Amino acid sequence: MVQRQLRGRGIHDENVLAVMAELPRELFVPAGVLSHAYMDDALPIASGQTISQPYMVARMTELLDLRAGMRVLEVGTGSGYGAAVLGRLGCSVISVERHPELADTARARLAALGLADAVRIVVGDGSLGWPAEAPFDAIVVTAGAPRVPAALPAQLADGGRLVVPVGMRARQELTLVIRAGGTFETHDCGGCVFVPLIGEGGFAEPAGESAQGRRRRWFGRLLL
Ligand code: SAH
Repeated sequence: MVQRQLRGRGIHDENVLAVMAELPRELFVPAGVLSHAYMDDALPIASGQTISQPYMVARMTELLDLRAGMRVLEVGTGSGYGAAVLGRLGCSVISVERHPELADTARARLAALGLADAVRIVVGDGSLGWPAEAPFDAIVVTAGAPRVPAALPAQLADGGRLVVPVGMRARQELTLVIRAGGTFETHDCGGCVFVPLIGEGGFAEPAGESAQGRRRRWFGRLLL
C-alpha cells in the first residue's frame, strides 16, 4: 500500500509514510470488507459512512505539514483511522464526529492502540469547528463541504493550515487554506470525492434524518 499507492503517487512526507506503513488499517474496517483493508479505495463503515482511501489520508495529512506536538482538529472521525495517523505522528488531536456510535467505536480502537491520551474524540457538529479548544495548528475536514466552513479559518493559529474538500455533494476540490496573520491564502490541491459534511457549516441534513424533519413531516400530514 505504501510503496504503490502512496510513495508511487508522490507522497513524500517520510513521517506520514512511516506511520501509515506500521498502522494496521484492518483494525478500522468492518469484518465484511477485511480482505479489502489495503486496497486503493474508500470502504463502507457503519452509519452509511466511509473510511477514506489511504492515498487521500496521506495526501491530506501531508498538506497539513505536521510536526510532533502540534494541536490538530479533525472534523469527521469516521472509523478513527485518520485520527490514529495524526496521533501516531505525535500530534495532540481533537476529532469531532456527528454519529455517536461511530465515535464510540473509534474511541475503543484508539484506546486499544494506546492513543487514548493523544486523541480525544467528541460528538458534535464539527462544521462549526471546536471553538472551546481553538486555536489549532492544523484542521482537517474529512467530509465534503459546499464552501470552506466559515468558522474554521478563524480557529487556525498564525501559520496554521486547514485542509477541506470543497464543492458539490458528488465531487469536490481538495482545498488548502494557510493563515498568515489576518490573511488567508487558498490553494486548490486536486479533485476528490468525500461523503458530505452535514451541519451548519456544511450541507443540510438529508430529509428524514433529523428530529426536526420528522416533526415537519408529521405536522405536514396533519395539515393535509
Ligand atoms: N477520517 C475518517 C473519514 C470518515 S468519512 C476515517 O479515516 O475513517 C467522514 C465522516 O465525517 C463521517 O463519519 C461523517 O459522519 C462525519 N461528519 C459529517 N459531517 C460532520 C459534522 N458536521 N461534524 C462531525 N462529523 C461529521
